[in-house]
Amino acid sequence: MNRASAECAVSSDRTAQLRRWDIDHVWHGFTQMADYAQTEPIIVERAEGCWLIDTSGRRFLDGVSSLWCNVHGHHRPEIDDAVRRQLDRVAHSTLLGISHEPAILLARKLVELAVPLAADGEPLTRVFFSDSGSTAVEVALKIAFQYWRQRRPERGGPRPEKTHFIALNQSYHGDTLGSVSVGGMELFHGIFKPLLFPTWWAPEPFCYRCPLGLIRAECKIDCLGQLGRLLEEHHHETAAVVVEPLVQGAGGMIVAPEGYLRGVRDLTRRHDVLMIADEVAVGIGRTGTMLACQQENVVSDLLCLAKGLTGGYLPLAATMANEEVFAAFAGTQAELRTFFHGHTYGGNPLAAAAALATLEIFEREGTLAAIQPRIEQLAGWLRRFAELPHVGDVRQRGMMAGIELVRDRKTKEPYPWPEQIGARVCRRAREENVLLRPLGNVLVIMPPLAINAEELDLLCGSMERAIRAVTEK
Ligand code: PLP
Repeated sequence: MNRASAECAVSSDRTAQLRRWDIDHVWHGFTQMADYAQTEPIIVERAEGCWLIDTSGRRFLDGVSSLWCNVHGHHRPEIDDAVRRQLDRVAHSTLLGISHEPAILLARKLVELAVPLAADGEPLTRVFFSDSGSTAVEVALKIAFQYWRQRRPERGGPRPEKTHFIALNQSYHGDTLGSVSVGGMELFHGIFKPLLFPTWWAPEPFCYRCPLGLIRAECKIDCLGQLGRLLEEHHHETAAVVVEPLVQGAGGMIVAPEGYLRGVRDLTRRHDVLMIADEVAVGIGRTGTMLACQQENVVSDLLCLAKGLTGGYLPLAATMANEEVFAAFAGTQAELRTFFHGHTYGGNPLAAAAALATLEIFEREGTLAAIQPRIEQLAGWLRRFAELPHVGDVRQRGMMAGIELVRDRKTKEPYPWPEQIGARVCRRAREENVLLRPLGNVLVIMPPLAINAEELDLLCGSMERAIRAVTEK
């Protein structure tokens, strides 16, 4: 046996061992473990650019940005160096009552980023750090709730009856109980209903499967009208409306019609209700602008960021607020206006350093301009997918796309859940070394923004072959 094959043999033993222990001990999120136990799990060992490399040296194209978070590619020297430099100083120190440089610089940077393109109310000037998208939303909900209980007299005084939230059907805001309470996906959230606070639901702006049975060419974004009616009826008891700007991601890459987001902002203003923009999935360049809200010149009262904030390196989230909201929390200790909330690792210095390096790359390399040709290229592929006999709809905003598979294009009849059509297509693509993860019958394309033209063709080509192989049998 030569040296290379000896090393390979060692590595395959090790891989087998890791797979065994993985199946025996690791409980994977959103994964049916009984099925998983029948597979040969991919054990990622390292990564470079848009590629994940497993313990056997096999390379997989990261078609979903390691769960929608990788931005500039894996193992980016600038981000690696920033984290290493910070590691030489301090790995962790709390933000409860003291501070550190990376969090301060990052907060400053985020405030600059959130400066509205057009004047649209108060800018977001305050940043509360936590560590995941779910906590970012949780924080926003709690801030909104507490804000109304202690709004300053000069701003209209407290309105403690404003305790409810309005969210959209098919929305997804995370897995903690507060964010599940404003989550509108029966599949994920239904079972937990007895644990949740009540929420009012507005119809999702889903033109392919319009909940109002309308056709986009003829409608006047009537789903917005329904939200308006809900607000008319309930504004006096509503703290905030929560939305995923432009695209409802986990709900099936539902792309809102142009003007919808602007409409939500106008309605919340008219009815004196806060607006929470959950940009956890759509923020940090994903839809083609740094923030999705910028595409409709919208500035919300609270804004949630996570996922791509650190370039997909480390857990970090930010909930941004305007001065109006922030002011309600200022007072003496005795007044008990403090926001009694804070996560141990919120604003971790290593993560903040990774975030700063990520945002610097956007500026230095002009990432937003650089991805425009990729967005066009993806649009070209989607037009092609739209011709396939079992593709019902294709949806895209920037580098975020969904392909909805249907059993029957004419009737839009969905594939039944037990057929696991999306998962089967993704398994087929994996045979060609492309890693994808579906949302039920919707295939997701969301590679790192750093993907090059050749890699994007490879990804989409594999996906096309996989769709054909599975649906045209
Ligand atoms: N909000 C949105 C819009 C999301 O898409 C997600 C995750 O996919 C979350 C919140 C939750 O983020 P995390 O998984 O980091 O808790």
